[in-house]
Amino acid sequence: MATIIAANWKMYKVRGEAYETAKALRQALQKGTKQRDVFLFPPFTAVQVVAEALQGVPNLFMGAQNFYPVEEGAFTGEVSLKMIKDCGADWVLVGHSERRHILNESEAFIAQKTKYAIEHGFGVMLCIGETLAEREAGKLEAVLGSQLKTALTDCPHPAGKLIIAYEPVWAIGTGKVATTAEVDEAHGKVKELLGGIDKELANLPVLYGGSVKPANAAQLLALDNVDGLLVGGASLDAESFYSIITA
Ligand code: PEP
Repeated sequence: MATIIAANWKMYKVRGEAYETAKALRQALQKGTKQRDVFLFPPFTAVQVVAEALQGVPNLFMGAQNFYPVEEGAFTGEVSLKMIKDCGADWVLVGHSERRHILNESEAFIAQKTKYAIEHGFGVMLCIGETLAEREAGKLEAVLGSQLKTALTDCPHPAGKLIIAYEPVWAIGTGKVATTAEVDEAHGKVKELLGGIDKELANLPVLYGGSVKPANAAQLLALDNVDGLLVGGASLDAESFYSIITA
């Protein structure tokens, strides 16, 4: 399994900016990478332009940051999987902490989205993670267990279509990286919890996310239980993201 490096551009970049970053990334990737699968999650409005700029690049996967789990209909402001596919992407981020905590998505809704996307042929990068208060209250395992169980019990898991991203909420966009010991321990727990839901799930790739930078990427990737990285802020600049890809 190749190491996975994913970029979440959140609500940054108009199309022109996204195109320039994608073009620079394409050029950088032509220099060659280690064995990496690279995933990009631009904002909806830039998915198509980024997909076109990176068309044909090997081991490159396009995704969207959100969707609504219905085929079509009167859902003002929402975007369907068919629309995302039409723009050139077939992966989605589900359960990102900003959607859980700012947009108030419930565990039940996240489970519904996960199942719906998988059943409709999309790949899902399922994000999980605890808040600082939950960690300090000793609830790490309970929180991760509940997030995983709700989303994955009875969810189909075709090979290569499901990736877990462990992102402690307190480390996202804060500059605070979990220590390598904390990351390794949490990832070990995630793998155990996955195996407890279904033996086949124990082999899912588990990425770390939370203030990953070129300076700490290699150290995180060296951990046994870390299968890749999900990068927010440091993925917005092609050179910085390329350094993480090649870390
Ligand atoms: C993220 O948005 O998934 C993320 C990890 O952000 P950052 O790298 O900026 O902490």
